[in-house]
Amino acid sequence: MSNYPHLFSPIKIGGLRLPNRVIMGSMHTGHEEKSGGFNTLAKFYSERVKGGVGLIVTGGISPNRAGVTVIGGSRMTNLFHVAKHKKITESVHKEGGRILMQILHAGRYAYTPLAVGPSSIKAPISKFKPRKLSNWGVKRTIANFVRSARLAKRAGYDGVEIMGSEGYLINQFIAAETNKRTDQWGGSFENRIKFPLEIVKQTREAVGPDFVLMFRLSMLDLMKEGSDWAEITKLAKELEKAGVDVINTGIGWHETRIPTIATMVPRGAFSFVTQKLKSEVNVPLVATNRFNSPETCEEALSVGAADMISMARPFLADSHLMKKAKDGESDRINTCIGCNQACLDHLFERKTASCLVNPRACDEASWNDPDNPLRPNNKKAAVVGGGPAGMSCASELALLGYSVTLFERSKELGGQFNVAKKIPGKREFDETIRYFSNRLQELKVDVRLNTEASIEELSGNGYDHVILATGVTPRPLSIPGADRKEVVSYLDVLEGRVEVGEKVVIIGAGGIGFDVADYLSHDDSDNTGFIESWGIDKDLNTRGGLAKPNIKPSSRKIHILQRSKGKPGAKLGKTTGWIHRLTMKQRGVVAWGGVKYVEVNDEGLVIIHPEKGKLALRVDHVVVCAGQLTNVPLYEPLKSMGIDCHLIGGSKLASGLDAKRAIREGLELATKLYNNISS
Ligand code: NAP
Ligand code: SF4
Repeated sequence: MSNYPHLFSPIKIGGLRLPNRVIMGSMHTGHEEKSGGFNTLAKFYSERVKGGVGLIVTGGISPNRAGVTVIGGSRMTNLFHVAKHKKITESVHKEGGRILMQILHAGRYAYTPLAVGPSSIKAPISKFKPRKLSNWGVKRTIANFVRSARLAKRAGYDGVEIMGSEGYLINQFIAAETNKRTDQWGGSFENRIKFPLEIVKQTREAVGPDFVLMFRLSMLDLMKEGSDWAEITKLAKELEKAGVDVINTGIGWHETRIPTIATMVPRGAFSFVTQKLKSEVNVPLVATNRFNSPETCEEALSVGAADMISMARPFLADSHLMKKAKDGESDRINTCIGCNQACLDHLFERKTASCLVNPRACDEASWNDPDNPLRPNNKKAAVVGGGPAGMSCASELALLGYSVTLFERSKELGGQFNVAKKIPGKREFDETIRYFSNRLQELKVDVRLNTEASIEELSGNGYDHVILATGVTPRPLSIPGADRKEVVSYLDVLEGRVEVGEKVVIIGAGGIGFDVADYLSHDDSDNTGFIESWGIDKDLNTRGGLAKPNIKPSSRKIHILQRSKGKPGAKLGKTTGWIHRLTMKQRGVVAWGGVKYVEVNDEGLVIIHPEKGKLALRVDHVVVCAGQLTNVPLYEPLKSMGIDCHLIGGSKLASGLDAKRAIREGLELATKLYNNISS
């Protein structure tokens, strides 16, 4: 009997019989636009089918030139496109999987001067003002959706998902916020929903009864003039009548200023929305957003919140998630931590997507198979430091047949992740430590905790390679008075070595400065849940599902400062930085840029403010979050003894220290060392 009886019960949607209740949700990878990208995508998707995914939805493909998310974005408009997509469908079907193509018209979110919309209203997150579609333009766009679906069928897809949420074109037609038309496509709700209903009706007519039609319906716009629940229910019923086989859930628009997928959103937090629609329609419903474990999926399915669950990013983190869950090996799953750092943030930077915890993601063909350990190769390696870089490199070397010893000075593995997980909403880091700890054990790495690796140990035991992943130390403050007892480092705070007072100044407004501000402004005794504190109407009585936010101001008086001019926290992650900045603002944390630090004295921290001039901030504590310095005391002595010695992660480069680079460097170095012996 499976640990997840609901998750692994088969289901029929349209003409498809699926082996389990999980859909790998739509995710743009950036390979859609690259030369040869469809070969990479074919491998990427088929790998996920091998890993147990029953149904996949591709990244969004535009039905015409105006609807692309970026200039040159992928479209399905002709037979040349059909031929490219066949590579994907054939490789997925060869492995026994099923796949739908998502048709996505970005509307006013299209990052191109060709952008169109129901009305000419610019999105706050785009620089392009859309052109209002004429009546003829609306009809032609509907025809383009239909053509795309017909071509998708020809390319071998099992169906299409019509993207009607997240604030894209269809959603823009539905919501009064963006549809100010007065013709047959605007005004009343009945008129505004004609656009999606015509698309569905005409598509159904064109593709026949067996081709699956899934519609992604915005069930919670989180926009001021978004739909109310009566409208959402009405549209769902009309979509069912028009011929959809399954309805997927959409939560929020891209411009919504409420987090919907970041780490701090509790797992499965939005399944209540899908559950509310369950009694209103007969077609299967799919719940989404922040599902990342088989347990969370099973729980939602067992309480009847949905018929299926869609997860996207978790399949970047672990292509074999479903297989591991089915085989009773959930503790071997590499869990998505919701950081967005290597997936969504990459796409915003126009790079291809990858994954912080799994650097092989979307590039599987370039690396060795993580599930096939090689035979021992008589080589020995010592890895010093059990943080992300060290754990990654040790496990990759062991996978390649090395005999590996991992030295960790402290009592536990995890390094900086043990610090990061103390920040509110960052518990997911525990999952990465759990994954690597189990992985090291499974690959028989000799892990020595509470062990400081000495020069003698590293030089006298026949190691072919020594890898130093000893991380970083916090950069100290270098102004007069920096040695006073009220000046402490972020590690002193997060590791609980100081009782922090009521008046605090944080020096440094990078990722760690903001994390410390969060830690110090968060009220542990506050039981207000995520939904209430961010102002989401759980009863869905209001338009857009918006209520008054209930974020409590911090009881501490906190300033966060940086020397550079401009907005503090501007360099935080593209898709998550705004959450940190907004949260701190709501809690009353004061953020100043362009500040000069003078000294710490009996008056407090003396600074020169760009407008207020010289002033002293009264403080109980100054918390220094001024970046890091490398920590490599072993490197030079070992090098001078002729030991083959390598640096990775923070010990290689402290500035811009990040776990994404650390884990990737572990994989890269192990692969390079192995390639050297085998070439
Ligand atoms: P960081 O992002 O590089 O920020 C360091 C801060 O210290 C900057 O605000 C910098 O601003 C200031 N600073 C640098 N040298 C200084 C000096 N000598 N005296 C005073 N201030 C100085 O480093 P971090 O905050 O330690 O974060 C490290 C890495 O962790 C980041 O690169 C990030 O990837 C990762 N991280 C990210 C997040 C997130 O995005 N949410 C959270 C945690 C960690 P000025 O030079 O302008 O004063
Ligand atoms: Fe998940 Fe972060 Fe990986 Fe994206 S980069 S898939 S959010 S763990």
